[in-house]
Amino acid sequence: MASASASASYRCAACGADLNVTAAHLFPAGLYFEAGNKGTLSFAWMDESRLRFAPEDRIAPFFETRNYWGIQRKRTLISCDACGCLLGHIYDDGPPVMDGIGQLGMGPSQVIPRHPRYRIKIKAVAAPAPPPAAAYGKQ
Ligand SMILES: [Zn+2]
Repeated sequence: MASASASASYRCAACGADLNVTAAHLFPAGLYFEAGNKGTLSFAWMDESRLRFAPEDRIAPFFETRNYWGIQRKRTLISCDACGCLLGHIYDDGPPVMDGIGQLGMGPSQVIPRHPRYRIKIKAVAAPAPPPAAAYGKQ
């Protein structure tokens, strides 16, 4: 796993553009996602000014995990705004939004809205540079 200082930004692996997100914007390690998290990084927030979004809505069977499969797939493509390279997708399987009063204001027993998950392919981004040498030598 990438160990990174919380202040260094991830970059687009294709063009080097600064995506203005850091390891601090990742969901906590080990958080469960219905669609899995293999080979990807899951961000809770991304700087939308650095990205392009496009809806993906197609009829095609998919099977990512035992809990995440279907026939029609709706998700949002995330691309680098600088070079257009595909970085990942927005999934709707983030943690439930528990601090509200539920959808339509009808209380939490309604379908629980979920936080978006910015699921980025590890190979599509360059990890932040390691922290300066000052960090070494301390245990
Ligand atoms: Zn790029």
